[in-house]
Amino acid sequence: MQYYSLRRQAPTVDFRTAAITGQAPDGGLYFPETIPRFGADFLRDLPTLDRADLALAVMRPYVGGTIPDADLHEICAAAVDFPFPLVPVSPGITALELFHGPTLAFKDVGARFMSRCLGYFAQRGDTPSVTVLVATSGDTGGAVASGFLGVPGVEVVILYPKGKVSPVQEQQLTTLGQNITALEVSGTFDDCQALVKQAFRDPELAAHRFLTSANSINVARWLPQQLYYCFAAQQWPAGAQPPVISVPSGNFGNICAGLLARASGLPLGHFIAACNANDPVPRYLRSGTYAAQAAVATHSNAMDVGDPSNFVRILELFQHDLGALKAALSAETVSDPDTVATILQVWFENGYLLDPHAAVAYAALLRYQAQHPDTAGILLATAHPVKFPGVLEPIIGQPIELPEAVRHLQGRPKQAIPMDVDFGALKEFLLR
Ligand SMILES: *Cc1c(COP(=O)(O)O)cnc(C)c1O
Repeated sequence: MQYYSLRRQAPTVDFRTAAITGQAPDGGLYFPETIPRFGADFLRDLPTLDRADLALAVMRPYVGGTIPDADLHEICAAAVDFPFPLVPVSPGITALELFHGPTLAFKDVGARFMSRCLGYFAQRGDTPSVTVLVATSGDTGGAVASGFLGVPGVEVVILYPKGKVSPVQEQQLTTLGQNITALEVSGTFDDCQALVKQAFRDPELAAHRFLTSANSINVARWLPQQLYYCFAAQQWPAGAQPPVISVPSGNFGNICAGLLARASGLPLGHFIAACNANDPVPRYLRSGTYAAQAAVATHSNAMDVGDPSNFVRILELFQHDLGALKAALSAETVSDPDTVATILQVWFENGYLLDPHAAVAYAALLRYQAQHPDTAGILLATAHPVKFPGVLEPIIGQPIELPEAVRHLQGRPKQAIPMDVDFGALKEFLLR
């Protein structure tokens, strides 16, 4: 499999190069040259396939021989080494819970897959050791830190805004040690992001270290997200009409992976991009004109993205045909008050606690079902509610119990290097 740049001003590359460099030299995102089709055997055996075998079958064509099957199977097994249950919530609505991984976020799968691929390439010695540099507003950093922990040949440096991540999130970033370093920046997430972007542009740093990013632009993080949809299809009742899928969307990496799996022949129905007030895509589908927005803060903060980077991949998948896109995808905007009302209603009527991101997806799915009765739907529950006590506890009036996956972090000493919003300080740290 070869990958081309969506700006078409750079050479095509294999999976290894796309995974190591992240973005094409012309600034474009990489996109697979062909969309593999799932075979009839795969679809027939899907309900009983072992998760690691399933992951290997889906990822093998994309990895295209740059990692031998035995190693790739091991990487896949480690990436999907926790359950992905489909849980009934209310009549006609089920939740695919993606938060049973080590950091309670769906980003665990992509981060673990990507880290182990980079580790494999670094260990083979045909790549320099890699420094993964990321800015986080909370969720991404924890998944990346945990995913890369102890991976040989890879050092991880995470910038996070001091005092602006939740206590659980800070523990996930700062208590691991080993090859993970947390920089606690006296500034905002945007300051952290700006420092990281400047570092990627700095020629002196590029000569000293091989810097790469770990966001969903990277094919090694983006593509394995197809697996969630396969796990959903696996658990869907045989013979039933394919489910409508509602995906809480920010950078649109997750939903784009789902649409890719559907294009490969996975039996899935209509897709709904569930957005908060940051809604350039719902506006685009209504008006046909795309306009980026300045991001605004909401309760579902992992979706506070005003110009989703992966949307160009969705346009490419549908060959820029707006009609074809609208036949497969709708998009909804859900406000913070609607999000709160949804959490409240589902908690008291159905006894199910939605995190704010899943609540946006639930509300969007309900709206679709009001127009399309007799459809059954799945919403993707992307984070564990315990990560959002500030929003949820006042609504439900009780504390949320800490799950086992994060309990072991309690009481571990925090290790973070304080840093001002000062590129000179970051550069000095990276040149050390
Ligand atoms: C990252 C994230 C999202 C958005 O996913 P995208 O792939 O960026 O659209 C949704 N929910 C949670 C909890 C997240 O962490």
